[in-house]
Amino acid sequence: DPLVDPVAGSDELAFEGALRPTSLAEFVGQPKVRGQLEVLLRAATIQERTPDHILLAGPPGLGKTTLAMIIGAETGRPIRFSSGPAIQHAGDLAAVLSALVPGEVLFVDEIHRMARSAEEMLYLAMEDFKIDIMVGKGAGAASIPLELAPFTLVGATTRSGMLPAPLRDRFGFTAHLEHYAAADLERVLSRSARLMDVALEPAALGELARRSRGTPRIANRLLRRVRDWLLVHEGSSDLDGVRAALELYDVDEAGLDRIDRAVLEAIAHRFGGGPVGLSTLAATVGEEADTIEAVVEPFLVREGLIGRTPRGRIATPAGLRHAGVVTQDATLD
Ligand code: ATP
Repeated sequence: DPLVDPVAGSDELAFEGALRPTSLAEFVGQPKVRGQLEVLLRAATIQERTPDHILLAGPPGLGKTTLAMIIGAETGRPIRFSSGPAIQHAGDLAAVLSALVPGEVLFVDEIHRMARSAEEMLYLAMEDFKIDIMVGKGAGAASIPLELAPFTLVGATTRSGMLPAPLRDRFGFTAHLEHYAAADLERVLSRSARLMDVALEPAALGELARRSRGTPRIANRLLRRVRDWLLVHEGSSDLDGVRAALELYDVDEAGLDRIDRAVLEAIAHRFGGGPVGLSTLAATVGEEADTIEAVVEPFLVREGLIGRTPRGRIATPAGLRHAGVVTQDATLD
């Protein structure tokens, strides 16, 4: 079910593009990162130099691509897009780097997935705007130095821990993006609703924000479903629309979808609150262990509904309550 997947679907690019803020002032939330970037970009503009290389780290759907585009726009520089998986050889990177125009912003998404051989080339490029290109093979091989145009590398990663230290150290600044507070998501939604030409009352926006898992991408996606629901059910209230549309698409009042609930309920009911191992859990709910580990679990842990122990996953008191198990806490209140 892609509705609460923080990663974008291929059909979402145009929709997302239309909702992307284009300046730091328009970028909602993340006040810390916004303040840090503002100083960094202004200082570069005052000194008429390329801004330092910037690493954007954080979970998917929080605005890394958007920020990269804003970095280009705020400094009046063109931006070129590439990604770690597209750079499988040093030659792939050499082709991208040698085509850069002076001052260009190079955005490399999922930079932790770049080939090792390319990483080494990138160290020199980031430091000295130079690379060495190997030509020929065996005894006749030679390395030819190539000067590059000065550029700003903006790397995005969901796994900053997977970046080798020498690469991490060559970024002048790392921005850590956090999940959004509901109040900030409400502002994201109100802006998106305006751009989509739907007027939603504040209570409806608030309800939607609370169910969007702290992620602007998910908030915008749910907003689209609510807009459709309200179009079809003319005359219903906005808040009813939010509740009914999300019920229709299986997103509950805490933002859990069908799979999240299946996992939580299995731990709470089938395994008496846990602990239960990942593979047993995966077999019980009929999902891949990888999906549970990468998508379901981090969210449930963040929400305080489950915990991880050395012996397996357990449901917390809040998780047990969410799954409808009456705990001692609940009887006491
Ligand atoms: P991924 O890592 O999966 O590529 P991302 O972190 O690059 O995700 P974006 O593509 O930048 O995320 O953002 C996803 C959507 O959320 C876009 O439509 C964007 O407009 C919206 N969005 C993200 N952050 C904000 C924000 N701070 N204010 C308003 N809209 C935002």
